[in-house]
Amino acid sequence: MSESRALVVVDVQPTFCEGGALPVAGGNAVAHAIAEYTASHRDRYALVVTTQDWHIEPGRHFATPPEEPDFVDTWPPHGVAGTAEAELHPALADLAPDASVRKGQYAAAYSGFEGTDDEGRTLAELLEGVDAVDVVGLAESHCVKETALDAVRAGMSVRVLSDLTAPVTPEQGETARAQLRSAGVEIATSR
Ligand SMILES: [Zn+2]
Repeated sequence: MSESRALVVVDVQPTFCEGGALPVAGGNAVAHAIAEYTASHRDRYALVVTTQDWHIEPGRHFATPPEEPDFVDTWPPHGVAGTAEAELHPALADLAPDASVRKGQYAAAYSGFEGTDDEGRTLAELLEGVDAVDVVGLAESHCVKETALDAVRAGMSVRVLSDLTAPVTPEQGETARAQLRSAGVEIATSR
């Protein structure tokens, strides 16, 4: 039986790229690299799924002025539902994902497995029958990491394609990769 592999594209939204509310250095480049990769390797995947941070009223996830965000549990407002920067990155206009999951409407949600698509299907339901996933997107140290760890917990064989992701800081990236490796995630590249 051949392996069924999915690509999960995590939170590639302008809000997390240069020019957005909570930019990750290299975010726009990651968006373009993912677009190029999927255009030429779509046949590797049984399924392509995107996730988006889609905040309506996420409570303590957003710092309330005058409180300053601590960038651990509280953040500047970002990924606000209905705004242009919460949409998928324009570089992914031709991605044509099989499904799109949104998360974080009313609370913090780092893992794509906390989200659902327009028909209420969870990422776990969408990935039924898939035994392996490649996880890419933003940010490596946060939502990519949590999504990959949940995929391992769901029993899948998981790779993070490190050239198609970027961490919030280099140090947090190192910590995340160590945590991922010890959970059994393979850190690979798209090449
Ligand atoms: Zn968020």
